[in-house]
Amino acid sequence: MKYILALDQGTTSSRAIVFDNKGQIVSCAQQEIRQIYPKDGWVEHDPNDILSSQLGVIAESLVRAGITAEDIAAVGITNQRETTVVWDRKTGKPVYNAIVWQCRRTTEFCDSLRADGMQSFIYDRTGLRIDAYFSATKLMWILDHVPDARSRAERGELCFGTVDTFLMWHLSKGKIFATDYTNASRTMLFNIHKLCWDDELLQLFRIPKQMLPEVRPSGYKYGYADVTMLGARVPLCAAVGDQQSALFGQLCLEEGSMKNTYGTGCFLLMNAGKYPRRTFVSTDQDGLRTEGLITTVAAGLDDAPQYALEGSVFMGGATIQWLRDEMRMLTSAADSERYALRVKDTNGVYLVPAFVGLGAPYWDSNVRGAVFGLTRGATKEHFVRAALESIAYQVYDVAKAMEQAIHSPITSLNVDGGGSVNDFLMQFQADILRAKVVRPKVRESTALGACYLAGLTVGYFDGIEQIKQNRQTERVFEPTMDEATRTKSVQGWRDCIRLLHRW
Ligand code: ADP
Repeated sequence: MKYILALDQGTTSSRAIVFDNKGQIVSCAQQEIRQIYPKDGWVEHDPNDILSSQLGVIAESLVRAGITAEDIAAVGITNQRETTVVWDRKTGKPVYNAIVWQCRRTTEFCDSLRADGMQSFIYDRTGLRIDAYFSATKLMWILDHVPDARSRAERGELCFGTVDTFLMWHLSKGKIFATDYTNASRTMLFNIHKLCWDDELLQLFRIPKQMLPEVRPSGYKYGYADVTMLGARVPLCAAVGDQQSALFGQLCLEEGSMKNTYGTGCFLLMNAGKYPRRTFVSTDQDGLRTEGLITTVAAGLDDAPQYALEGSVFMGGATIQWLRDEMRMLTSAADSERYALRVKDTNGVYLVPAFVGLGAPYWDSNVRGAVFGLTRGATKEHFVRAALESIAYQVYDVAKAMEQAIHSPITSLNVDGGGSVNDFLMQFQADILRAKVVRPKVRESTALGACYLAGLTVGYFDGIEQIKQNRQTERVFEPTMDEATRTKSVQGWRDCIRLLHRW
């Protein structure tokens, strides 16, 4: 009896999950990693912390399952995306901390690129919007600020990688220097049409090509973990960015199928099929300016991957954390549901949690949060309900932009993440979207995606059909709201966004 080990190296923690051949969780171990904030808006991780915590949870998950590394058929890695590491090719020693995706240190440079009219050039090749979020400018920053880094990189002495690459390099003792299409597509250096590093982008960001890893499918026999690292020579058979992994884990394998993760933020991804779609044109949605969605590569098992459309909402579950920690209206996130259900609606109150600006599809970093529609009769219950509804409205806005891009209506949304346990939120989402909301039994979609990809690669799973049979739905939320109420509610939300832009 063999198992699959999924490594989920996330922003706040490293996790290891042992899965059986039904896709059920056998054991799980988790360790937080230290967040380093050297300056306002800067975020780093110690790469050694990433590695040691990951090794620690691997050992713990095996012990908890009562197995050894010999019992593992394959390892799949899924990781926080865009986070940038540079290390010495001989020693493996990082030359600087990992610069985390959240880090804003290169914002000014990105603004200047946009001002220079580079957006459409970069979008055409990478599917991305110019932003400090992606790896290119982070890597450039390291080469420009760490003494000797650029000359060493030019001499071929340094390696660049996202977290998947860094982990595989170390787990294999330097034998594997590779990444996958999904992670590469988040660097802003990768041509998503030709599926290769883009020479002109490398020139623009002044990145020596010799420091870049090879790019492979997400499910692929990358090589073996060194015996001294895991205790056995286990094959490493998947590397995949966390959101694309969740899309795969949710089995959104057909064009038009989509998932939303209700975590700190919300990440909505839709399978866009074989061809990347252009969505990055400013369109007018109900008179609102939207800037479209980014295009990214979806996880797959061969050199002809599908594409995905992606939109992120910055304040998802974090809105509820704010109610709990800053507003002190709740003692736990779960309380929000109880309060919301005590009232029949928000009594006209709308909360727009644009605390750090608005993400997709509005992309407005200058706006800030607001509350609309307060009356003397507004209560805490109304306020809490408005906060939960705001999460659903933001997801609705991104979903509508996706509908526009694929020219067909959304009928179903797969959900996961911490906020997806909230039944009120899921029902409201179904109502507003006028689509089914489907919640799976195993909500660890991210780790599950890496498990499926690794398992399919080594033939541990017979094929997608077997995996589909294993999938269990925990609950389906059907839309029940009458159309007049729905339209009025959405119009109210859109009016708020419109007013916010003016303010
Ligand atoms: P992340 O991976 O981003 O850390 P998780 O998937 O663990 O996020 O989800 C945590 C988020 O979910 C928190 O922001 C929290 O406020 C929110 N959350 C947890 N439980 C609930 C709930 N019952 N209702 C609404 N939001 C919730």
